[in-house]
Amino acid sequence: MSVHPLLFDLGSRKPTTREIAHAVKAGGVTALTEAERRADEARYQEVTCRSALNRVEGMPFNWTLNPYRGCTHGCHYCFARRYHVQFEMNADDDFASVILVKRNFVEVLRRQLERPSWAREQVALGTATDPYQPIEGHYRLTRGTLEVLARSRTPVGLVTKGPMVVRDRDVLALVQSSAPCTVYMSVPTIDEDAWRILEPGTAHPLQRLRAVRELVDAGINAGVLMAPIVPGFSSSRSKLERTVKAIADHGARFVGCNVMYLQDGTRTHFMRFIEREFPSMKPRFESLYVKKYPPETYRKEVKAMVQVLQKRYGLTAREDATGDRPGERSGADLIADPEQVGFSW
Ligand code: SF4
Repeated sequence: MSVHPLLFDLGSRKPTTREIAHAVKAGGVTALTEAERRADEARYQEVTCRSALNRVEGMPFNWTLNPYRGCTHGCHYCFARRYHVQFEMNADDDFASVILVKRNFVEVLRRQLERPSWAREQVALGTATDPYQPIEGHYRLTRGTLEVLARSRTPVGLVTKGPMVVRDRDVLALVQSSAPCTVYMSVPTIDEDAWRILEPGTAHPLQRLRAVRELVDAGINAGVLMAPIVPGFSSSRSKLERTVKAIADHGARFVGCNVMYLQDGTRTHFMRFIEREFPSMKPRFESLYVKKYPPETYRKEVKAMVQVLQKRYGLTAREDATGDRPGERSGADLIADPEQVGFSW
């Protein structure tokens, strides 16, 4: 028996995310006395959610689904790091090591999708956490989510870096049989140094591309997002070309790209990481990221280069999958001769 008093005296009910935030505010993450530490050293706190569908604005879709919060993949550029602050946790170590598991997520989603008012709008899965981070092998919340989405004939877009998505190709096929369904595998680069440095908890990029091959072979509409391309790490012409070629070689149905942006807690985390690990690069990042995006000319150059390579290797561009905000010009406008595109980074 634990000698520590339990923080949550809620019977069998798991705490809500609000209760978690209050507990962490009062006592730090060590106050999560019920969080289970697993072999990967991360701590998993089961929570109760009131809603599974999350309404968003300014995106190409209106609804997002995230069965987990936090992500043990721990990518240093992850824009979702800043969301962990909403739970009174930090965007640094806590984001990758304290994971909230929405235990009742599938049941809540099922009830929401059964409402007559549900209009079967497109939902995006995996926008604030990876739905196929390793713990999914235990909880199978993403699989359950896809099953209820298939039953409700809801269109789905799913973003992941997890090859485990191949496990669910049967359910993805079910979704696809009654509504549009697309899997976006995130592979910003196949450069091994950049991968090890920037995405420490993820599967090898080629393993992710092999997963794309398996999904396509199973008839799933699957392609690759080179997102984000990180200046100085994955933006050189040779790295972009090797990556686009590998994506084409693995049969991806499409490719899209986006350059890293930095905001709030993500910005703080990334700049600290650069200062600690690559101090000589810090001035360059500071000048490139005066605002949350690098200058438009830089982004256009990168996108133009990728677009030329897409054409060279016979890939279809996926402009609506690049993360562009509505109204922004897309890569389709930015064709340029690669020889004319010079990168300072
Ligand atoms: S896999 Fe996605 S959600 Fe997870 S840390 Fe990396 S970018 Fe963030």
